[in-house]
Amino acid sequence: MHFTDQAPSVPISSYKRTKIVATIGPATDSYGKIRAIIAAGVNVVRLNFSHGTNEDRDRQIPWVRQASAELNKPVAIVQDLQGPKIRLGDFEGEIAVTTGQELSFQYQASPDSGHIPTQFDLSGKVKSGERLYLSDGKVRTKVTGVRDGVVYATADNDGVLLKRKGINIPDTDFGGDVLTEKDMNDLRYGAGQDIDYVATSFVQTAQDIENLRRILTELKHPGNRIIAKVETNAAVENIDAIVQASDAVMVARGDLAVETLAESVPVVQRQIIGLGQKYAKPTIVATQMLLSMMEKPEPTRAEVSDVATAVFIGADAVMLSDETAMGNYPVEAVEIMKRVIRYAEQHNPLKTVFHLEREPGVSSAIAGSIISLATDIKAKAIVAETKTGATALQISSRRQDTAIIAVTDSPRTAQQLALVYGVKSYVRPAEEQAAQKLTDWLRDKQVLEAGDVVVTVSGRYPGVVGTTDTIKVRVLE
Ligand code: PEP
Repeated sequence: MHFTDQAPSVPISSYKRTKIVATIGPATDSYGKIRAIIAAGVNVVRLNFSHGTNEDRDRQIPWVRQASAELNKPVAIVQDLQGPKIRLGDFEGEIAVTTGQELSFQYQASPDSGHIPTQFDLSGKVKSGERLYLSDGKVRTKVTGVRDGVVYATADNDGVLLKRKGINIPDTDFGGDVLTEKDMNDLRYGAGQDIDYVATSFVQTAQDIENLRRILTELKHPGNRIIAKVETNAAVENIDAIVQASDAVMVARGDLAVETLAESVPVVQRQIIGLGQKYAKPTIVATQMLLSMMEKPEPTRAEVSDVATAVFIGADAVMLSDETAMGNYPVEAVEIMKRVIRYAEQHNPLKTVFHLEREPGVSSAIAGSIISLATDIKAKAIVAETKTGATALQISSRRQDTAIIAVTDSPRTAQQLALVYGVKSYVRPAEEQAAQKLTDWLRDKQVLEAGDVVVTVSGRYPGVVGTTDTIKVRVLE
Protein backbone atom coordinates (compact mmCIF):
# COMPACT_ATOMS: atom_id res chain seq x y z
CA MET A 1 0.00 0.00 0.00
CA HIS A 2 1.63 3.24 -1.11
CA PHE A 3 -0.66 6.09 -0.34
CA THR A 4 1.95 8.51 0.86
CA ASP A 5 4.49 8.54 -1.94
CA GLN A 6 3.43 11.93 -3.23
CA ALA A 7 3.88 15.20 -1.42
CA PRO A 8 0.77 17.09 -0.34
CA SER A 9 -0.05 20.24 -2.27
CA VAL A 10 -0.67 22.35 0.86
CA PRO A 11 2.06 23.90 3.00
CA ILE A 12 2.47 22.30 6.39
CA SER A 13 1.24 25.41 8.19
CA SER A 14 -2.17 25.30 6.50
CA TYR A 15 -3.12 21.70 7.12
CA LYS A 16 -6.58 21.30 8.55
CA ARG A 17 -6.00 19.99 12.07
CA THR A 18 -9.48 19.04 13.19
CA LYS A 19 -10.55 15.94 11.30
CA ILE A 20 -13.81 15.22 9.47
CA VAL A 21 -15.80 11.98 9.85
CA ALA A 22 -18.45 11.34 7.19
CA THR A 23 -21.16 8.68 7.14
CA ILE A 24 -21.68 6.81 3.89
CA GLY A 25 -25.21 6.12 2.64
CA PRO A 26 -27.38 6.29 -0.47
CA ALA A 27 -26.20 9.88 -1.18
CA THR A 28 -22.56 8.76 -1.33
CA ASP A 29 -22.95 5.23 -2.65
CA SER A 30 -20.64 5.50 -5.67
CA TYR A 31 -16.91 5.57 -6.24
CA GLY A 32 -17.14 9.13 -7.61
CA LYS A 33 -18.98 10.48 -4.54
CA ILE A 34 -16.71 8.71 -2.05
CA ARG A 35 -13.64 10.03 -3.85
CA ALA A 36 -15.16 13.53 -3.95
CA ILE A 37 -15.87 13.70 -0.21
CA ILE A 38 -12.39 12.38 0.64
CA ALA A 39 -10.83 14.94 -1.74
CA ALA A 40 -13.00 17.65 -0.12
CA GLY A 41 -11.64 16.94 3.36
CA VAL A 42 -12.99 13.68 4.83
CA ASN A 43 -10.43 11.81 6.95
CA VAL A 44 -12.64 9.09 8.42
CA VAL A 45 -15.47 7.17 6.77
CA ARG A 46 -18.21 5.81 9.01
CA LEU A 47 -20.18 2.76 7.92
CA ASN A 48 -23.40 2.87 9.91
CA PHE A 49 -24.47 -0.72 10.51
CA SER A 50 -27.95 0.47 11.56
CA HIS A 51 -28.67 0.83 7.86
CA GLY A 52 -27.64 -0.72 4.57
CA THR A 53 -26.48 -4.23 3.79
CA ASN A 54 -23.19 -6.09 3.74
CA GLU A 55 -23.41 -6.07 -0.06
CA ASP A 56 -23.32 -2.25 0.17
CA ARG A 57 -20.26 -2.45 2.42
CA ASP A 58 -18.56 -4.93 0.08
CA ARG A 59 -18.57 -2.18 -2.55
CA GLN A 60 -17.92 0.80 -0.31
CA ILE A 61 -14.85 -0.44 1.59
CA PRO A 62 -12.75 -1.03 -1.58
CA TRP A 63 -13.96 2.32 -2.94
CA VAL A 64 -12.64 4.09 0.15
CA ARG A 65 -9.30 2.30 -0.10
CA GLN A 66 -8.98 3.05 -3.81
CA ALA A 67 -9.80 6.75 -3.36
CA SER A 68 -7.44 6.97 -0.40
CA ALA A 69 -4.62 5.44 -2.49
CA GLU A 70 -5.31 7.71 -5.45
CA LEU A 71 -5.41 10.80 -3.25
CA ASN A 72 -2.32 9.79 -1.22
CA LYS A 73 -4.29 10.28 1.94
CA PRO A 74 -4.70 7.72 4.73
CA VAL A 75 -8.39 7.35 5.62
CA ALA A 76 -9.83 5.48 8.61
CA ILE A 77 -12.89 3.26 8.21
CA VAL A 78 -15.22 2.90 11.20
CA GLN A 79 -17.65 0.02 11.64
CA ASP A 80 -20.42 1.64 13.71
CA LEU A 81 -22.51 -1.05 15.42
CA GLN A 82 -26.21 -0.46 15.94
CA GLY A 83 -26.21 -1.72 19.53
CA PRO A 84 -29.50 -2.12 21.42
CA LYS A 85 -31.19 0.67 19.46
CA ILE A 86 -34.78 -0.11 20.21
CA ARG A 87 -37.53 0.76 17.79
CA LEU A 88 -41.29 0.45 17.55
CA GLY A 89 -42.41 -2.24 15.13
CA ASP A 90 -44.59 -1.89 12.06
CA PHE A 91 -48.24 -0.84 12.35
CA GLU A 92 -50.78 0.87 10.15
CA GLY A 93 -51.19 4.65 10.34
CA GLU A 94 -50.38 6.51 13.55
CA ILE A 95 -51.31 6.05 17.19
CA ALA A 96 -52.50 9.18 19.02
CA VAL A 97 -51.50 9.22 22.69
CA THR A 98 -53.00 11.41 25.43
CA THR A 99 -51.56 12.30 28.83
CA GLY A 100 -52.34 9.61 31.42
CA GLN A 101 -53.21 6.97 28.82
CA GLU A 102 -52.06 3.42 29.56
CA LEU A 103 -50.04 1.87 26.73
CA SER A 104 -48.83 -1.68 26.33
CA PHE A 105 -45.84 -2.91 24.31
CA GLN A 106 -44.92 -6.37 23.17
CA TYR A 107 -42.05 -7.72 21.11
CA GLN A 108 -43.35 -8.32 17.56
CA ALA A 109 -46.99 -8.00 18.73
CA SER A 110 -49.55 -9.01 16.12
CA PRO A 111 -51.95 -6.30 14.90
CA ASP A 112 -54.96 -7.88 16.70
CA SER A 113 -53.18 -8.30 20.06
CA GLY A 114 -54.05 -4.79 21.25
CA HIS A 115 -50.37 -4.19 22.09
CA ILE A 116 -47.95 -1.83 20.32
CA PRO A 117 -45.23 -3.88 18.57
CA THR A 118 -41.53 -3.34 19.34
CA GLN A 119 -38.48 -4.67 17.48
CA PHE A 120 -36.74 -5.66 20.75
CA ASP A 121 -38.01 -7.57 23.77
CA LEU A 122 -38.15 -4.87 26.42
CA SER A 123 -39.90 -7.11 28.96
CA GLY A 124 -36.68 -8.67 30.24
CA LYS A 125 -34.97 -5.31 30.68
CA VAL A 126 -37.27 -2.57 31.99
CA LYS A 127 -38.70 -2.28 35.49
CA SER A 128 -41.63 -0.43 37.04
CA GLY A 129 -40.92 3.26 37.59
CA GLU A 130 -38.36 3.53 34.77
CA ARG A 131 -38.80 6.05 31.95
CA LEU A 132 -39.65 4.81 28.47
CA TYR A 133 -39.39 7.44 25.74
CA LEU A 134 -40.97 7.01 22.33
CA SER A 135 -40.51 8.64 18.92
CA ASP A 136 -37.02 9.88 19.80
CA GLY A 137 -38.18 11.42 23.05
CA LYS A 138 -41.31 13.20 21.80
CA VAL A 139 -43.67 10.98 23.81
CA ARG A 140 -42.56 10.36 27.39
CA THR A 141 -43.98 7.50 29.42
CA LYS A 142 -43.29 5.71 32.69
CA VAL A 143 -43.31 1.93 33.05
CA THR A 144 -46.06 0.75 35.43
CA GLY A 145 -45.53 -3.00 35.17
CA VAL A 146 -44.28 -5.97 33.16
CA ARG A 147 -46.45 -9.09 32.85
CA ASP A 148 -46.26 -12.08 30.50
CA GLY A 149 -43.83 -10.41 28.13
CA VAL A 150 -45.93 -7.22 27.92
CA VAL A 151 -44.63 -3.85 29.16
CA TYR A 152 -47.26 -1.43 30.51
CA ALA A 153 -46.59 2.31 30.69
CA THR A 154 -48.46 5.57 31.30
CA ALA A 155 -48.04 8.55 28.98
CA ASP A 156 -46.75 11.78 30.56
CA ASN A 157 -47.67 13.95 27.56
CA ASP A 158 -49.83 14.03 24.43
CA GLY A 159 -48.27 12.93 21.17
CA VAL A 160 -48.33 10.69 18.17
CA LEU A 161 -46.54 7.38 17.58
CA LEU A 162 -45.33 6.41 14.12
CA LYS A 163 -44.08 2.97 13.12
CA ARG A 164 -40.36 2.14 13.54
CA LYS A 165 -39.54 5.29 15.55
CA GLY A 166 -36.84 5.04 18.24
CA ILE A 167 -37.45 4.03 21.86
CA ASN A 168 -35.12 5.16 24.65
CA ILE A 169 -35.01 3.67 28.16
CA PRO A 170 -32.64 6.01 29.99
CA ASP A 171 -33.02 4.42 33.45
CA THR A 172 -32.59 0.80 32.38
CA ASP A 173 -29.47 -1.15 33.27
CA PHE A 174 -28.45 -3.40 30.39
CA GLY A 175 -26.20 -5.37 32.73
CA GLY A 176 -23.33 -5.52 30.24
CA ASP A 177 -25.59 -6.74 27.46
CA VAL A 178 -25.08 -3.93 24.93
CA LEU A 179 -24.05 -6.13 21.98
CA THR A 180 -27.04 -7.65 20.21
CA GLU A 181 -27.14 -10.72 18.00
CA LYS A 182 -27.09 -8.41 15.00
CA ASP A 183 -23.96 -6.69 16.38
CA MET A 184 -22.25 -10.08 16.77
CA ASN A 185 -23.10 -10.99 13.16
CA ASP A 186 -21.84 -7.59 12.03
CA LEU A 187 -18.59 -8.08 13.98
CA ARG A 188 -18.10 -11.47 12.29
CA TYR A 189 -18.60 -9.79 8.93
CA GLY A 190 -16.23 -6.94 9.91
CA ALA A 191 -13.53 -9.42 10.92
CA GLY A 192 -13.10 -10.24 7.23
CA GLN A 193 -12.96 -6.60 6.14
CA ASP A 194 -10.35 -3.85 6.01
CA ILE A 195 -11.70 -1.83 8.95
CA ASP A 196 -9.75 0.41 11.39
CA TYR A 197 -12.16 1.18 14.24
CA VAL A 198 -15.28 -0.34 15.77
CA ALA A 199 -17.77 2.11 17.31
CA THR A 200 -20.03 0.67 19.99
CA SER A 201 -23.44 2.15 20.75
CA PHE A 202 -25.32 2.66 24.04
CA VAL A 203 -22.26 1.82 26.14
CA GLN A 204 -23.02 1.99 29.87
CA THR A 205 -19.79 0.98 31.61
CA ALA A 206 -16.07 0.50 30.97
CA GLN A 207 -16.76 -3.24 31.21
CA ASP A 208 -18.79 -2.98 27.99
CA ILE A 209 -15.61 -1.79 26.26
CA GLU A 210 -13.52 -4.58 27.80
CA ASN A 211 -16.08 -7.17 26.64
CA LEU A 212 -15.95 -5.84 23.07
CA ARG A 213 -12.15 -5.80 23.17
CA ARG A 214 -12.11 -9.47 24.10
CA ILE A 215 -14.51 -10.28 21.25
CA LEU A 216 -12.44 -8.32 18.72
CA THR A 217 -9.33 -10.24 19.80
CA GLU A 218 -11.12 -13.59 19.56
CA LEU A 219 -12.44 -12.72 16.10
CA LYS A 220 -9.05 -11.34 14.97
CA HIS A 221 -11.03 -8.30 13.85
CA PRO A 222 -8.69 -5.82 12.13
CA GLY A 223 -10.54 -2.85 13.64
CA ASN A 224 -8.83 -3.31 16.96
CA ARG A 225 -9.46 0.26 18.15
CA ILE A 226 -12.74 0.93 19.95
CA ILE A 227 -14.77 4.13 19.78
CA ALA A 228 -17.19 4.42 22.71
CA LYS A 229 -20.37 6.21 21.68
CA VAL A 230 -21.54 8.18 24.68
CA GLU A 231 -25.32 8.41 24.45
CA THR A 232 -26.73 7.07 27.74
CA ASN A 233 -27.11 8.41 31.28
CA ALA A 234 -25.02 5.55 32.61
CA ALA A 235 -22.15 6.36 30.21
CA VAL A 236 -22.15 9.97 31.42
CA GLU A 237 -22.01 8.76 35.03
CA ASN A 238 -19.11 6.39 34.22
CA ILE A 239 -17.39 8.67 31.75
CA ASP A 240 -13.90 8.79 33.24
CA ALA A 241 -13.54 4.99 33.27
CA ILE A 242 -15.10 4.68 29.80
CA VAL A 243 -12.66 7.18 28.27
CA GLN A 244 -9.75 5.33 29.87
CA ALA A 245 -10.97 1.94 28.63
CA SER A 246 -11.66 3.09 25.03
CA ASP A 247 -9.36 4.17 22.22
CA ALA A 248 -11.61 7.06 21.12
CA VAL A 249 -14.92 8.58 22.22
CA MET A 250 -17.89 9.89 20.25
CA VAL A 251 -20.29 12.42 21.74
CA ALA A 252 -23.38 10.86 20.11
CA ARG A 253 -25.57 13.90 20.63
CA GLY A 254 -28.71 12.47 18.97
CA ASP A 255 -29.54 9.81 21.51
CA LEU A 256 -27.64 11.61 24.28
CA ALA A 257 -30.07 14.53 24.04
CA VAL A 258 -33.02 12.15 24.44
CA GLU A 259 -31.53 10.07 27.26
CA THR A 260 -30.20 13.02 29.26
CA LEU A 261 -31.39 16.62 29.36
CA ALA A 262 -30.79 18.43 26.04
CA GLU A 263 -29.15 21.28 27.94
CA SER A 264 -26.65 18.89 29.48
CA VAL A 265 -25.24 17.86 26.08
CA PRO A 266 -22.91 20.87 25.54
CA VAL A 267 -21.57 20.39 29.07
CA VAL A 268 -20.98 16.67 28.53
CA GLN A 269 -19.37 17.48 25.15
CA ARG A 270 -16.86 19.77 26.85
CA GLN A 271 -16.20 17.30 29.62
CA ILE A 272 -15.54 14.45 27.17
CA ILE A 273 -13.17 16.54 25.05
CA GLY A 274 -11.23 17.46 28.20
CA LEU A 275 -10.99 13.81 29.29
CA GLY A 276 -9.93 12.84 25.76
CA GLN A 277 -7.03 15.29 25.99
CA LYS A 278 -6.16 14.12 29.50
CA TYR A 279 -5.96 10.45 28.51
CA ALA A 280 -4.75 11.02 24.91
CA LYS A 281 -7.92 9.55 23.40
CA PRO A 282 -9.38 11.16 20.26
CA THR A 283 -12.86 12.66 20.58
CA ILE A 284 -15.58 13.07 17.93
CA VAL A 285 -18.48 15.52 18.12
CA ALA A 286 -21.40 13.94 16.26
CA THR A 287 -24.92 14.52 14.99
CA GLN A 288 -26.79 17.41 13.40
CA MET A 289 -23.69 19.53 12.86
CA LEU A 290 -24.87 20.73 9.44
CA LEU A 291 -28.29 19.06 9.33
CA SER A 292 -30.02 21.80 7.31
CA MET A 293 -27.61 20.95 4.47
CA MET A 294 -29.70 17.82 3.87
CA GLU A 295 -32.00 20.13 1.94
CA LYS A 296 -30.07 23.34 1.33
CA PRO A 297 -26.62 24.15 -0.08
CA GLU A 298 -25.86 26.58 2.80
CA PRO A 299 -25.78 25.82 6.55
CA THR A 300 -27.51 27.89 9.21
CA ARG A 301 -25.49 30.33 11.30
CA ALA A 302 -26.08 28.19 14.39
CA GLU A 303 -24.65 25.14 12.61
CA VAL A 304 -21.52 27.04 11.56
CA SER A 305 -21.13 28.15 15.15
CA ASP A 306 -21.58 24.59 16.42
CA VAL A 307 -18.74 23.30 14.21
CA ALA A 308 -16.48 26.21 15.18
CA THR A 309 -17.20 25.64 18.88
CA ALA A 310 -16.14 22.00 18.60
CA VAL A 311 -12.88 23.26 17.04
CA PHE A 312 -12.34 25.91 19.73
CA ILE A 313 -12.77 23.47 22.59
CA GLY A 314 -10.40 21.01 20.98
CA ALA A 315 -12.34 18.06 19.55
CA ASP A 316 -10.21 15.78 17.37
CA ALA A 317 -12.99 15.38 14.83
CA VAL A 318 -16.43 16.60 13.81
CA MET A 319 -18.91 14.26 12.17
CA LEU A 320 -21.48 14.35 9.39
CA SER A 321 -24.27 11.76 9.51
CA ASP A 322 -27.45 12.19 7.47
CA GLU A 323 -25.79 15.13 5.66
CA THR A 324 -23.45 12.82 3.73
CA ALA A 325 -25.49 9.61 4.01
CA MET A 326 -28.82 10.85 2.73
CA GLY A 327 -28.60 14.59 2.02
CA ASN A 328 -28.84 16.45 -1.26
CA TYR A 329 -25.47 18.19 -0.77
CA PRO A 330 -22.95 15.66 0.61
CA VAL A 331 -19.84 17.12 -1.03
CA GLU A 332 -20.86 20.70 -0.26
CA ALA A 333 -21.42 19.76 3.42
CA VAL A 334 -17.83 18.49 3.64
CA GLU A 335 -16.50 21.59 1.83
CA ILE A 336 -18.36 23.91 4.21
CA MET A 337 -17.23 21.94 7.25
CA LYS A 338 -13.62 22.19 6.11
CA ARG A 339 -13.93 25.94 5.49
CA VAL A 340 -15.38 26.49 8.96
CA ILE A 341 -12.64 24.38 10.57
CA ARG A 342 -9.84 26.16 8.70
CA TYR A 343 -11.19 29.61 9.50
CA ALA A 344 -11.70 28.78 13.17
CA GLU A 345 -8.22 27.28 13.45
CA GLN A 346 -6.48 30.13 11.65
CA HIS A 347 -8.26 33.03 13.32
CA ASN A 348 -8.60 31.77 16.86
CA PRO A 349 -5.48 29.81 17.72
CA LEU A 350 -6.54 26.95 19.91
CA LYS A 351 -5.85 27.24 23.58
CA THR A 352 -6.45 24.24 25.77
CA VAL A 353 -8.99 25.43 28.28
CA PHE A 354 -8.96 22.34 30.43
CA HIS A 355 -6.97 22.13 33.62
CA LEU A 356 -5.55 18.70 33.16
CA GLU A 357 -3.75 16.56 35.62
CA ARG A 358 -2.08 14.01 33.41
CA GLU A 359 -1.01 10.64 34.66
CA PRO A 360 2.77 10.72 35.17
CA GLY A 361 4.59 8.29 32.87
CA VAL A 362 7.52 8.04 30.49
CA SER A 363 5.61 8.54 27.22
CA SER A 364 3.64 11.44 28.68
CA ALA A 365 6.83 13.09 29.97
CA ILE A 366 8.59 12.62 26.61
CA ALA A 367 5.60 14.17 24.79
CA GLY A 368 5.67 17.13 27.17
CA SER A 369 9.40 17.67 26.54
CA ILE A 370 8.99 17.43 22.76
CA ILE A 371 6.33 20.10 22.81
CA SER A 372 8.12 22.52 25.06
CA LEU A 373 11.24 22.11 22.94
CA ALA A 374 9.36 22.52 19.63
CA THR A 375 7.53 25.58 20.96
CA ASP A 376 10.66 27.25 22.38
CA ILE A 377 12.64 26.89 19.16
CA LYS A 378 9.62 27.67 16.95
CA ALA A 379 9.94 24.36 15.10
CA LYS A 380 8.07 24.07 11.80
CA ALA A 381 7.17 20.42 12.45
CA ILE A 382 7.54 17.52 14.84
CA VAL A 383 8.36 14.39 12.83
CA ALA A 384 7.72 11.34 14.99
CA GLU A 385 8.38 7.68 14.27
CA THR A 386 5.53 5.63 15.66
CA LYS A 387 4.62 1.93 15.57
CA THR A 388 1.15 1.89 17.10
CA GLY A 389 0.47 5.63 16.93
CA ALA A 390 0.85 6.08 20.71
CA THR A 391 3.67 8.63 20.42
CA ALA A 392 1.70 10.73 17.92
CA LEU A 393 -1.40 10.51 20.12
CA GLN A 394 0.50 11.68 23.19
CA ILE A 395 1.94 14.67 21.33
CA SER A 396 -1.37 15.54 19.66
CA SER A 397 -3.29 15.47 22.94
CA ARG A 398 -1.34 18.55 24.09
CA ARG A 399 -2.92 20.55 21.22
CA GLN A 400 0.30 22.44 20.55
CA ASP A 401 0.74 24.71 17.53
CA THR A 402 3.53 22.79 15.76
CA ALA A 403 2.48 20.45 12.91
CA ILE A 404 2.80 16.73 13.74
CA ILE A 405 4.06 14.35 11.07
CA ALA A 406 3.87 10.65 11.94
CA VAL A 407 6.13 8.13 10.21
CA THR A 408 5.03 4.52 10.52
CA ASP A 409 5.63 1.24 8.74
CA SER A 410 2.02 0.24 9.42
CA PRO A 411 -0.71 1.35 6.99
CA ARG A 412 -3.23 0.43 9.72
CA THR A 413 -1.59 2.89 12.15
CA ALA A 414 -1.53 5.61 9.46
CA GLN A 415 -5.24 5.00 8.86
CA GLN A 416 -6.09 5.02 12.57
CA LEU A 417 -4.16 8.27 13.05
CA ALA A 418 -6.40 9.88 10.40
CA LEU A 419 -8.86 10.49 13.25
CA VAL A 420 -6.33 12.26 15.46
CA TYR A 421 -6.05 16.04 15.80
CA GLY A 422 -3.25 17.62 13.80
CA VAL A 423 -1.51 14.39 12.75
CA LYS A 424 -0.51 13.79 9.14
CA SER A 425 0.91 10.31 8.53
CA TYR A 426 3.37 8.81 6.09
CA VAL A 427 4.00 5.09 5.62
CA ARG A 428 7.68 4.26 5.38
CA PRO A 429 9.75 1.14 6.13
CA ALA A 430 10.86 0.70 9.76
CA GLU A 431 14.54 1.56 9.60
CA GLU A 432 17.15 3.70 11.31
CA GLN A 433 16.58 7.41 10.78
CA ALA A 434 13.14 6.97 9.19
CA ALA A 435 12.07 10.37 10.58
CA GLN A 436 15.20 12.06 9.27
CA LYS A 437 14.75 10.48 5.83
CA LEU A 438 11.13 11.58 5.66
CA THR A 439 12.16 15.10 6.68
CA ASP A 440 14.69 15.19 3.81
CA TRP A 441 12.04 13.94 1.40
CA LEU A 442 9.55 16.60 2.57
CA ARG A 443 12.25 19.23 2.01
CA ASP A 444 12.98 17.85 -1.48
CA LYS A 445 9.25 18.07 -2.23
CA GLN A 446 9.29 21.68 -0.95
CA VAL A 447 6.83 20.93 1.85
CA LEU A 448 9.64 22.00 4.22
CA GLU A 449 12.32 24.52 3.28
CA ALA A 450 16.01 25.12 3.98
CA GLY A 451 16.24 27.01 7.26
CA ASP A 452 13.19 25.32 8.79
CA VAL A 453 13.75 23.88 12.23
CA VAL A 454 12.35 20.39 12.78
CA VAL A 455 12.19 18.19 15.88
CA THR A 456 12.52 14.49 15.09
CA VAL A 457 11.42 11.82 17.52
CA SER A 458 12.62 8.25 17.19
CA GLY A 459 13.66 5.13 19.06
CA ARG A 460 16.69 2.92 19.29
CA TYR A 461 14.76 -0.03 17.88
CA PRO A 462 12.85 1.09 14.76
CA GLY A 463 9.41 -0.50 14.52
CA VAL A 464 9.38 -1.76 18.11
CA VAL A 465 6.53 -0.56 20.32
CA GLY A 466 7.35 1.78 23.22
CA THR A 467 11.02 2.45 22.44
CA THR A 468 10.86 6.18 21.71
CA ASP A 469 13.85 7.67 23.47
CA THR A 470 15.55 10.12 21.10
CA ILE A 471 14.62 13.73 20.41
CA LYS A 472 16.73 15.64 17.89
CA VAL A 473 16.67 19.19 16.60
CA ARG A 474 17.63 19.80 12.96
CA VAL A 475 17.94 22.97 10.96
CA LEU A 476 17.29 21.97 7.33
CA GLU A 477 20.00 22.77 4.84
C1 PEP B 1 -26.25 9.68 17.88
O1 PEP B 1 -27.19 9.19 18.51
O2 PEP B 1 -25.94 10.87 17.91
C2 PEP B 1 -25.44 8.77 17.07
C3 PEP B 1 -24.32 9.15 16.51
O3 PEP B 1 -25.87 7.48 16.97
P1 PEP B 1 -26.55 6.82 15.68
O4 PEP B 1 -26.57 7.87 14.60
O5 PEP B 1 -25.68 5.67 15.36
O6 PEP B 1 -27.88 6.41 16.16
